[in-house]
Amino acid sequence: MAAVADESVATQEPVIMVAEPIIGPEEKAALCQVIDSGWITMGDRVKTFERSFSEMHGARDCVAVDSCTAGLHLILAALGLGPGDEVLVPAMTFVASVNCVLYVGAKPVFVDIASPEKPLMSLEDAAAKCTSRTKAIILVHFAGYLADRESWQSFATERGLLLIEDAAHAAGLPEAGTYGVAAAFSFYGNKNMTTAEGGTVVAQDPNLLERIRTMRGHGLTSGTFQRVASRDRSYDVTMLGFNYRMDELRAAIGLVQLTKLQGWNDKRKTLTALYRMLLAERCPEVQVPFSMDWRSSYHILPVLLPKGKNRQDVIDQLRSAGIQTTIHYPPAHRFSFYRSLMPGISLPKTEDFADRELTLPLHPRLEEVHLDRITRSLAAALAA
Ligand SMILES: *Cc1c(COP(=O)(O)O)cnc(C)c1O
Repeated sequence: MAAVADESVATQEPVIMVAEPIIGPEEKAALCQVIDSGWITMGDRVKTFERSFSEMHGARDCVAVDSCTAGLHLILAALGLGPGDEVLVPAMTFVASVNCVLYVGAKPVFVDIASPEKPLMSLEDAAAKCTSRTKAIILVHFAGYLADRESWQSFATERGLLLIEDAAHAAGLPEAGTYGVAAAFSFYGNKNMTTAEGGTVVAQDPNLLERIRTMRGHGLTSGTFQRVASRDRSYDVTMLGFNYRMDELRAAIGLVQLTKLQGWNDKRKTLTALYRMLLAERCPEVQVPFSMDWRSSYHILPVLLPKGKNRQDVIDQLRSAGIQTTIHYPPAHRFSFYRSLMPGISLPKTEDFADRELTLPLHPRLEEVHLDRITRSLAAALAA
């Protein structure tokens, strides 16, 4: 992810980035405090960050980790998923949702989206893909739009499946993390809040969360901080663990970011509503999935170009107008690695969506003037 805006040759106006981290003097000051304190990892700030994040999501506790990918891996490992198990995953996601299944030796089973208006995992296709080996479902709140909680809970309960959320897009939405056994959030640089790299895990069962906490640090029965505090240098290793710890520097940034997250998500909502209005007026042939009353953290703004339009031409025209765009997502089942593992998979709705999707810039630093410029440029590109 490139955070630095270069200059557009054509317009001499700064390039409008698709996403941008907001970090400044407060984060700098927080980092300096950590450095001055001399305690740089797994200390009070990580604990405080875990408490603050839990409060925001109505959870008792959570475990801070160094990425959402690590969090997902820990969830699957702590649940004991492994060889012979199948896990339902959308292909319309970032590959981390799929890789965590492969890390534990289980088999990801790709599920199609419901429709272009609702590009979330389809209940019908998920039902069709269930076998006697299916053990879990990984839900993704695509673009920040929440999956249907009740439907997925009954789906999982009826079949005895573990419901897991990849909530990478949904930081700050209190409902995210309350669907099933556990959820992982991301604080990567392009997410709704950032610690540069980072993530967290929430889990309903305190025993599961403790297992995840132990697995985060090599399965050791006590962390460095506890050992120094208690002057007890002995510990035991009770399980195969990993090093997925969060450090104090990231936690310090995270604590500042958490105080701003709700305001940023509100701004994303305002911008999304404005986008919908401007697009309906200027680009009526462009479809905007979901609707304004859908519960969302408004992580990104995906739109669908009309069938038959050459997307690359639109992308190139927008780029020369100083507007960066991306695609969410090239579907996982089409990448060569997954194709070689699981050949011959066809997901028609996911493929149609992925072929026409374009992600427009959306981040809290944007203002009406930017959206005006973006939607005018998109209308011009579509007319060309
Ligand atoms: C960003 C992202 C991840 C991975 O998050 P990291 O913190 O970078 O590991 C996982 N799933 C989805 C849907 C994402 O967008």
